Amino acid sequence: MYEVKFNIVTPLWTGDSERKGGTVRETGIIGSLRWWYEILVRGLGGTACDPTNTLCNNDAFCDACSLFGCTGRSRKFKLEVVMPEEKKGESDDKTNVLGFMLKDGSVTLKFVPLKEIEGEEWVLLNETIKLIARYGALGGRTAQGNGVIKLVDNENHLDRLASKYNACIPAFLRPAKSFDYLQGKEFYDLRDFVSLLYVLEFDESIDMLRDSLDINSHLSVLWNRYHVLPIAPNVRRALRSSTISKDLFGGKGRGSRVFVSHGYTDEHSENTVRFRIFAFVRGKEEDRKKFCQTVESTLRDGLGEFLIRTSKGKKGISVKVEPFQTVYGEQIIANMRKGGDR
Ligand SMILES: [Zn+2]
Repeated sequence: MYEVKFNIVTPLWTGDSERKGGTVRETGIIGSLRWWYEILVRGLGGTACDPTNTLCNNDAFCDACSLFGCTGRSRKFKLEVVMPEEKKGESDDKTNVLGFMLKDGSVTLKFVPLKEIEGEEWVLLNETIKLIARYGALGGRTAQGNGVIKLVDNENHLDRLASKYNACIPAFLRPAKSFDYLQGKEFYDLRDFVSLLYVLEFDESIDMLRDSLDINSHLSVLWNRYHVLPIAPNVRRALRSSTISKDLFGGKGRGSRVFVSHGYTDEHSENTVRFRIFAFVRGKEEDRKKFCQTVESTLRDGLGEFLIRTSKGKKGISVKVEPFQTVYGEQIIANMRKGGDR
């Protein structure tokens, strides 16, 4: 059995459009894990279908369906979500936008094998979880702030397995060209991935100036209770105002390719939060570099305008936005191939 323990950093959404987000549902976690597993597998040259529109079946299936199942083929594992004892999660069902938060304690995911899981699949699953925790987000509504997690135990026995299996993974994966029904689709792919970590610094404590921040009152509970600063909508508005292609933000039945977290306090700072942006920018390396440069200049020069309420007439609040870390999917892939840690 394989266990992963993590803290919830920004609210975790595992509901669907009909359901409330105030619990952690296994199906929501599995769906998200699969989504990231697909991204990793494609980036490594393997094959992953879109499970909502696929011809995979028990006779012919992609690398993701091999582990997660498809029509006529069951998933190879059962997932158990274990909550900390006596620490019930809090949520605000009235607003239905917050997702699930824990004041203290960690969530544990237990992966119980139901069939034999290949060593390569364990390693890919472990890499998937690290990818989510380090550069992405777990669950749903991750384009709107939710899903940042922090692993509690970074070391586990699968890390030791990784050096043994990483070299075997390319041969283990099924080449995409052998699947006709997967050709010509615009899938999310780790090769197109970029993750940007930002530090947002105010010149006075956030508690003091929060009334001046243009934050939805439904969301302000997040700061009051958890010190999560719900700025994802502001960051998205700023980015949409830039020269970044509108297509990347989704719409017309297409999902967003740009994801933005809320602000979270890593260092218990009174005037600083971090947030992350990750995106899937198709095209060449230059296109991704240009995307990162545009994000940086847009946020540095313009985020304040989208964050501070001007109607209140409070002037002179200074906002500093600094990039902290930029990681490209190709770097993650290269490091994995070397068998090293990132
Ligand atoms: Zn499939």
